[in-house]
Formats: sequence, structure tokens, C-alpha cells
Amino acid sequence: MLPESTDVLVVGAGPTGLAVAVALAGHGMTATVVDRLAEPPVTSRAAVVHAGTLEVLDRIGVAAPLAARGLHSTRFTVRDRDRVLAAVPFDRLPSRYPYALLISQAETEVVLTDRLTALGGRVRRPYELTGLDLDDGGATARFADGGTVRARWVVGADGMHSRVRELAGIGFGGPADPGESFLLADVRVDSTLPRDQVTLFLSRQGPLIWAPLPDGTVRLVATVTDAPREPQARHFQALLDERGPVRRPDRVLDVAWASRFRIHHRIADTYRSGPVLLAGDAAHVHSPAGGQGMNLGLRDAVALGDALAAGPEALDAYAAERRPRAEEVLGFAAGLTRLAAAPPAVRPLRNLLLRVVSALPPARQRLAVRLAGFEPGQG
Ligand SMILES: Cc1cc2nc3c(=O)[nH]c(=O)nc-3n(C[C@H](O)[C@H](O)[C@H](O)COP(=O)(O)OP(=O)(O)OC[C@H]3O[C@@H](n4cnc5c(N)ncnc54)[C@H](O)[C@@H]3O)c2cc1C
Repeated sequence: MLPESTDVLVVGAGPTGLAVAVALAGHGMTATVVDRLAEPPVTSRAAVVHAGTLEVLDRIGVAAPLAARGLHSTRFTVRDRDRVLAAVPFDRLPSRYPYALLISQAETEVVLTDRLTALGGRVRRPYELTGLDLDDGGATARFADGGTVRARWVVGADGMHSRVRELAGIGFGGPADPGESFLLADVRVDSTLPRDQVTLFLSRQGPLIWAPLPDGTVRLVATVTDAPREPQARHFQALLDERGPVRRPDRVLDVAWASRFRIHHRIADTYRSGPVLLAGDAAHVHSPAGGQGMNLGLRDAVALGDALAAGPEALDAYAAERRPRAEEVLGFAAGLTRLAAAPPAVRPLRNLLLRVVSALPPARQRLAVRLAGFEPGQG
């Protein structure tokens, strides 16, 4: 059953919505959290939580239990085939969590849900938001089962195709073309690549990310021009042959999970419209190449929880401060793709530049801090 009224209605119980609710509970505020799915999804999806995000999650009591469940990767390596162009260590990050934490999104959601439960909160399922009547005092939310909830604030944490964003009339502009195409999989692979680091292969055909996961599989993410409808082992073998190591090539043994999708880089026109606030994928989407999407959403979420607890002026500040963070991350992800796709004539220069940057400790540290998702004022 939904309550008749609530102070904060959080629509969507993905990582963002859950983290907003946990942050609010930490301030002694109970949010009503709804999700249209009867059960949380169990698929892998986002695979990395960065140190900058763990520092923020530490404030809501979630970082330590997350860190205990994942794999700690202390280095990020950029390669052109066998050649290491840059090795970025995370172990000197200004953090109690000096690594990239590799953990499936489903696990991250379990940890957030456990924390919410421990603080007395819960997710109400399945409730699908279908309508929103906005007025000066808040909003009346309508649901597919005919129910309504009166809320002072409505948080749109309902993902890329956000209904909240649409009902509030907030634009989510972007080009009309079909967007960048990606292939993803968790594969079992016979490989000599180190299992304690994430490797980014720069290749003319696009970047290929190779990330070890705690269950022994490896997450592969690649941009492709034409993704097969049902990606199979041979497709990922072909990607590794085309972009991966040459001297000791990887051999795909089997595919635990695979997916393809197209994505545009988009940011909502505003993160606040009256009583409606956006966070996570509802506010921004971009390529998974930098492993930053969910991280940005989690940091939005804690900032929004703090702002809701602090009052209306803090909400304007939330909207003004978080949108530029998304612009930065989108620019960074686009830069990675450009770096990978450098034309043959420019590649020797690119490779040289990366090696020089990697050899200079201050530059290397700056890159580590950036990759780890630290934001201005942090770290
Ligand atoms: C295949 C795949 C691979 C990915 N890989 C990566 C990666 O490697 N790195 C990375 O950082 N990110 C990755 N992402 C993106 C990452 O999953 C998202 O950034 C993250 O899930 C965003 O969290 P969110 O809570 O904002 O939104 P979501 O996780 O999308 O959650 C939104 C929730 O809202 C609910 N909802 C939607 N509409 C309604 C409604 N009308 N009423 C009620 N509930 C509603 C949904 O059921 C859902 O539970 C990947 C995504 C996919 C699909």
C-alpha cells in the first residue's frame, strides 16, 4: 500500500533512488521509494565503483560493506595491443579506498537495500508512476493501479527513459542519429593479462575495456559499428583478436552474459523544476566506456539527499552544481573514445604523449584522481 502523502517521493529504486533514500534516512527523513518492477533486476550492468564515489558513499555507511564484497583493482592500464602506453596507479589516491572496486550492479543494489532496511526504510513494488500533477505546494503522483500519492518533493531516479522528467516537461536534448553502439559481456577467458587491473585497449576500431570481476569472469565493453542482435562468444573473440593482446592472445571460453545497446550523450536541461528533482540516468546518460555512469548517479544521490534535508535553497544549489559535473564526465567519456579512434597518422604522437604523461608522477596522479571520480573539493 502507498501512503496518502509523503514529504519525499522517490521514483525508481535503482542505485540512484536507493542512495537518495539512504542519504535521507541518515538525516532522519523517511522517503517513499517506489519501483515499477516486482523484483530488483539481477543482471550485471555497471561493474565498477570508483574511489571518489566510495568516499561519498562512506558518508551514508555503504562504502565499507561494498568494499568487502568486490575486487580491488589498484591500477588502470592503457595499451595499444601488447604495448603499455600508460599505467595509472590508484594506490596513492587520497582515499581510504585507494582502488577501483569491481562489483556487479546487482550486488551494489543489494548493499544499498540492506542499508536502507537497517535504517528502517523499504522499497514499495510494483508501483509504476503514470502521471504527475504539479502545483505550488508539491505534486500529486498517479500510479498505474489507480492510486495517488501527494508529495512535497518528487525525485526522478527512474532512469534514462524517465517518466518523471517527461511529465515535468524537462528537455533531454540530443542529436537525432541512433547514437554510439556498444557490445558488452561478462566472459570466461583464458588470458595472461593481469587480473588485478583494468585494461583499456586503444584501437582504431574503437576502445575495448577489459575488467576482471569478482566471480572470475571478465567484463568486456567495446564500441562497434554494427552490434549483432544476439552477441556470442565468437563476436567477443573477434573483438579481442582485433583490439586485444597479440603475443599471447586471449581465448574466450564462454559467455556468462552479453548485451548490446546504443546510447547518446544527453543531459537534462535542468535538474530541478519546482517540486521535481532529477538524479542519475534520469538526468544524464553517456557511454559506459569510462565506467562513470552509475558513479555519477550515486554522487548525485548523496548530494540530493543532503540538499533535501537542508531545505529549498539547497535544492537550487544541487541543480546548479550537479549539472556541470555531468558535463565534465560526458566530455571525459567522449575524449576517451576520440583518443581510441585517433587516425593512423596521429597514433604515434598519441602513444608518445600517453607514455610521457604516464612517466610524470604529477600528471599520472591527476589522471588517477580524474578516473577515480573525485570532484572539485574532494581529494
Ligand atoms: C547493459 C548495461 C551495462 C552497463 N554498464 C555500465 C558500466 O559498465 N558502467 C557504468 O557506470 N554504467 C553502466 N551502465 C549504466 C548503469 O547501469 C546506469 O548508469 C545505472 O543503472 C543508473 O542508475 P539509476 O538508478 O539512475 O537508474 P536505473 O538503474 O535505470 O534505475 C531506474 C529504476 O526506475 C524504475 N522505473 C522506471 N520508470 C518507472 C516508473 N514510471 N515508475 C516507477 N519506477 C520506474 C526502473 O524499474 C528502475 O528500477 C550499464 C547499463 C546497462 C543497461
